[in-house]
Amino acid sequence: MGKPIVLTGDRPTGKLHLGHYVGSLKKRVELQDKDYQQYVFIADLQALTDNARNPELIRENLIEVALDYLAVGLDPEKTVIFVQSQIPELSELTMVYMNLVTVSRLYRNPTVKDEIKQRGFGSSLPAGFLLYPVSQAADITAFNANFVPAGADQEPLIEQVREIVRTFNGIYGEVLIEPEIMLPEKSVWNRLPGIDGKAKMSKSLNNAIFLSDEPSVIREKVMRIFTDPTHLKISDPGHTEGNTMFTYLDAFCTDAHFAEFLPEYRNLDELKAHYRRGGLGDVKVKLFLNNILQEELKRFREKRQFHEGRVDEVYTILREGSLNARQVAAKTLASVRSAIGINYDGKLLL
Ligand code: ATP
Ligand code: MG
Repeated sequence: MGKPIVLTGDRPTGKLHLGHYVGSLKKRVELQDKDYQQYVFIADLQALTDNARNPELIRENLIEVALDYLAVGLDPEKTVIFVQSQIPELSELTMVYMNLVTVSRLYRNPTVKDEIKQRGFGSSLPAGFLLYPVSQAADITAFNANFVPAGADQEPLIEQVREIVRTFNGIYGEVLIEPEIMLPEKSVWNRLPGIDGKAKMSKSLNNAIFLSDEPSVIREKVMRIFTDPTHLKISDPGHTEGNTMFTYLDAFCTDAHFAEFLPEYRNLDELKAHYRRGGLGDVKVKLFLNNILQEELKRFREKRQFHEGRVDEVYTILREGSLNARQVAAKTLASVRSAIGINYDGKLLL
């Protein structure tokens, strides 16, 4: 048996943010130093499913996402980094899998349902958008991925992939691998809310702290984070549950941060208890959170700046990763064609 295979991707619809970091990127950086074969890709064709009339957005953000990958420490020597559209085999696999799922099943996918609502497609829903879970099945199975490290929003999508795999293998023989989602360890990392406290942090919702934000922007966003609307005066008792400022502390702060930035408390439990009792103001807590995020994001910003000055090298990384990935996907496609019998024993072209 070879090493277990992990694969994940991101849509180039914007720069990556703290939600991506805790939900998935953090785990990817850890896994590349463990005994896994890892693939990470930029899902430009998937991004086209809801941005077909705005391809410029995808062109611009392809490089931004690649820079974010390098900034957080993904290393092309350890992780194959590639671009979805450069692997035409994925599109052919999608064509095959499309026949193994019903339209009503696609409409029932809770993540897709939410996203359709969020984007307000109404009756102008692009067919490609409804089908993106099928193209995800192609992305994952082409590389024989065993694990997909992602946030909880991806669970229904991975379940859909598993169904397609079982159906395919049931009809044509055991060819495809059933993937499993690898959720983050902490539940707060599964679905980090936006600074407005309403929905999950998302590139498209204007509620994100980006990994590449400048220090002044980070501070300004931290100061805007939704807190407890009933906590009007410092002396008032406050709520820590459903208070986004504390959700972020749950996600990012360690006891060492207290020793470094706020030594009057030993840990988050003590800080929360004070807030609940009353007598602790939001500004003090936010300045603490700001210090933590500034420290974390500084490392990323410095690495990003290094690569921003060498964009040609970044394209080379993507080109080489795509070449490598294409060989793997071509093997899977050949097995799929032969399992179905549309290779015609080599009597035709492919
Ligand atoms: P878009 O608005 O274009 O859909 P997005 O911000 O939702 O962008 P995706 O590219 O769809 O980001 O998600 C990529 C990965 O990041 C997925 O694995 C997803 O689970 C994870 N992720 C995205 N947002 C969050 C979040 N707020 N909390 C935890 N994980 C997240
Ligand atoms: Mg999304």
